[in-house]
Order: sequence, then structure tokens, then C-alpha cells
Amino acid sequence: MYQTKYVRATDTDDAVTKLDYEGKLLAGGMTLIPTMKQRLANPKTLIDLADCGLEGIKDLGNILKIGAMTRHVDVETSEVVAEEIPALAVLASKIGDRQVRNRGTIGGSIANNDPSACYPSAVLALDATIHTNSRDIAAHDFFVGMFETALEEDEIITAVSFPKPSTAAYSKFPNPASRYAMVGVFVAKGDTVRVAVTGAGEDGVFRHEGLETALVRSFAPEAVEAVTVSSDELISDMHAAGDFRAHLVKEMTKRAVAACS
Ligand SMILES: Cc1cc2nc3c(=O)[nH]c(=O)nc-3n(C[C@H](O)[C@H](O)[C@H](O)COP(=O)(O)OP(=O)(O)OC[C@H]3O[C@@H](n4cnc5c(N)ncnc54)[C@H](O)[C@@H]3O)c2cc1C
Repeated sequence: MYQTKYVRATDTDDAVTKLDYEGKLLAGGMTLIPTMKQRLANPKTLIDLADCGLEGIKDLGNILKIGAMTRHVDVETSEVVAEEIPALAVLASKIGDRQVRNRGTIGGSIANNDPSACYPSAVLALDATIHTNSRDIAAHDFFVGMFETALEEDEIITAVSFPKPSTAAYSKFPNPASRYAMVGVFVAKGDTVRVAVTGAGEDGVFRHEGLETALVRSFAPEAVEAVTVSSDELISDMHAAGDFRAHLVKEMTKRAVAACS
């Protein structure tokens, strides 16, 4: 059996100090704990962020700022999110199951950058800013590759700021077992149109230029029809071949555009 010490940090400075002891940050534990159970991680110390005051949703006019420790259920049921960026509430409501949504956090999801996670697509499509204890990181600089982000070893996400779009929607084809995205597409329309795809890319979440160009010309589901989505660099695994995922990217984009009000 591995020996693991559990500690609660009082704030982010305290958490950084405690990280020195071969520690790992603990948010909802929905990924980290199963990873430890499978012996894929063996931190000497688990540093719980629960007492660091990182939860909450603030309406800052043009921006919705969501604290890193805000749970998926809090986004799903928030009146302000439903009013200002309803697509985010829809996205949160489709994550995993009730147990996962009651524990999992937005900060943990983004820091983990699972290639099939839902939030990275919203962060990229809404051109969000990730706030950490030491700097602000633009969404397009944050997601570096599968399970990789721009975060330094001792960097802690404190919040995510989402600019409010004129309209946005998320459409996901869930893996029937895990509910993770086999393909998920977040479409946001503001000064331009951004289309971010999760679940499909070998390097994790990505924007699709062809779909964006077509939707800038005509923001309608039919505009997607003529766009070619290549299966090159798309995940092919036991759940779905790359070709099928390419088909789903178009289909989920059409559905997301149709859902935009
Ligand atoms: C059965 C199941 C189904 C799921 N389905 C979906 C789904 O459909 N869609 C989806 O998007 N997700 C899904 N998830 C993932 C889940 O929603 C969580 O978002 C995810 O597990 C990570 O969040 P967490 O708060 O649990 O983080 P943890 O597991 O506590 O941490 C994950 C990683 O992030 C690091 N970390 C945590 N917080 C911070 C922070 N503030 N700053 C820096 N690093 C940090 C931790 O050190 C760790 O390395 C599913 C999970 C399970 C178990």
C-alpha cells in the first residue's frame, strides 16, 4: 500500500508551499483518486484546495468569472450562468453522472485536459482567460496537447473568465459507458465564430478553421454541409474510428448551430 498524506491548504500560497513535498493538488478527486487507485500516480501528499476560497460565479458585465473550485453541479444549476451563457450550464449538465458533477470542478477539468473532457471546448470557443496564482493565460496558449497544459508544476488555476458571446451552444455525442465526449462541439458567435472540438483530436481540443469560415459566411446548420472534415489526426480507437468521429464533428456542429438562439 502507498503511504499518502492528506492536507488542506488555507490559500494558494500555502498550497504552493505544500506542493514542495512531492504533493499533488486535489480538487474534486474525480480523476486523481481513480488514477491513484490504478497505481498511475503516487503523490506523497494530497493538497486539498477546498478551503482556498476558489469557488463561486461572478457576473462582471461582459465577463462571467468562474472560480476554479466551482463544481459542475453549481454551473449546471446557476441562475446567472443560465441567464448569461446558457451553453455553459448545458455543458455542465451533460458531464458524467450526478456523482461526478457533485464533486468534479472546472479547475480540475481544465488542468487535467483530458482529450474527451467537455470544458476545454468551451474555454477555447469562448476565448476564455485562465487565471492562475501567478498569471493570466489565454485559452489558445493553455491547451498544449493531450493531458498537457501550459501550467507550471507549482501553478494553480484560481478562476476562468468567459467573455459573454452573442450566442453559443454545446452539442456532444457521449460515450455510452463513461459519458465523456466521443465528440463534443462548442460553437460561439461574437465578434467572429469559433468552433472548438473535443473528444476527437489526437492532441486534445482544437478549433476547426473550415467550419469557422463557413459559419462566418452563413451562420446556419446547412453551411456545415459543404465543409470537409478530415479524419487525419483524429482519434481512432475501440469506441469509434477516425472517419466516424469526422462525421460526428460535422453532425455535432450542425446541432450546436441549430441550438444557438
Ligand atoms: C465516470 C466519470 C465520467 C466523467 N465524465 C465526464 C464528462 O462527460 N465530461 C467531462 O468533461 N468530464 C468528465 N469527467 C471528469 C470530471 O468531470 C472532472 O472534471 C475531472 O475528473 C477533473 O476534475 P476534478 O475536480 O475531479 O479534479 P481532480 O481529480 O481533483 O484533479 C485532476 C488534476 O487536476 C489537478 N488540479 C485540480 N485542480 C487544480 C487547480 N485548481 N489548479 C491546478 N491543477 C489542479 C490535480 O492535481 C490533478 O492532477 C468524468 C469523470 C468520471 C470519473
